[in-house]
Amino acid sequence: MDQNHVPYHLATSQYLILLIDFNSIYSVNQILRYTEMVMPVVDMRQFNKRSSKRVKHRRKWLLLIGCALVIFVLVTQFMSRDSRQNVTKPSNNEQRNLPSSTVPNTGAVMKFTGEQFKELARSVKYPNTQLFLEPPYITGDSVADARIRKLAEERGYVMTSIPETSIEKINEPRLENDDLLQPLAAIAWRDLKAAARRDSIPLTLISAYRSPEYQRNLFMGRLKSLGVTTSQIVSGDADAKINTILSQAAVPGYSRHHTGYTIDLWCEDGSSAFLSSKCFDWISKDNYYNAKITGWIPSYPDGAGSQGPEPEPWEYVWVGKELVVN
Ligand SMILES: [Zn+2]
Repeated sequence: MDQNHVPYHLATSQYLILLIDFNSIYSVNQILRYTEMVMPVVDMRQFNKRSSKRVKHRRKWLLLIGCALVIFVLVTQFMSRDSRQNVTKPSNNEQRNLPSSTVPNTGAVMKFTGEQFKELARSVKYPNTQLFLEPPYITGDSVADARIRKLAEERGYVMTSIPETSIEKINEPRLENDDLLQPLAAIAWRDLKAAARRDSIPLTLISAYRSPEYQRNLFMGRLKSLGVTTSQIVSGDADAKINTILSQAAVPGYSRHHTGYTIDLWCEDGSSAFLSSKCFDWISKDNYYNAKITGWIPSYPDGAGSQGPEPEPWEYVWVGKELVVN
């Protein structure tokens, strides 16, 4: 049958087929071709004997239906593309095998006790990291360093790892030498920050990746401020002071910041401590829901024993949403 002689009811049925089976249409251009094909049919040949008023009326309706179909297919294709992006990886990240976003689309967010958070953070094989071949030095005195490490391990500190290849600069205003994160953690931090902004929460970073040198300077600064000498460390006289420092800071080689997957948060709301800020309320509510949906968990939560330092409400470690969202 010549397409120019398609009767009106068949032309209408083609529109219905489009509506029912729009998934088989691969492009909007195809819809437009259908519309162009049908419009001339309805235009003159079928209705040339009818009053021009009725033809105008029908043309107006067909034009409206055509427009509605184009909009419908555009919206459908857009939504379908979005859902595909949530389960596959975008082209610019495919080579590195990274997702574009850690924000989950479906599934229940799992709940964890303090101990379970601790075990989870320790059990993850963090991508692009390698174990230290030997523990980084602390004071430089091997006997003193061995004693400090022994005290650290007795508290539950575990040796961590360092990036295998270079990691990403993240351009956070409060960071300097530690303005770096692993690519997956950088993506997840941007997700977390965006989620906070949506809720008007002024969340920011005050620490990210730390090299062993950075951690050494931090730890040695604490030893110095308490007047601890190497001979005191070796003799054991400084054990109490070292334990005080270890309750707040790791020795080089034992900080989770070395991996590039750990961040310290701050809240720009005028609070004197993160624990009392509205950012902590926001991130910790409902078993750290807002952290987990972007792939983060508390690094040293309340309710876990022997984890090294005392609980640190500001520190979070990336584990990936797959481990915390069913
Ligand atoms: Zn920290």
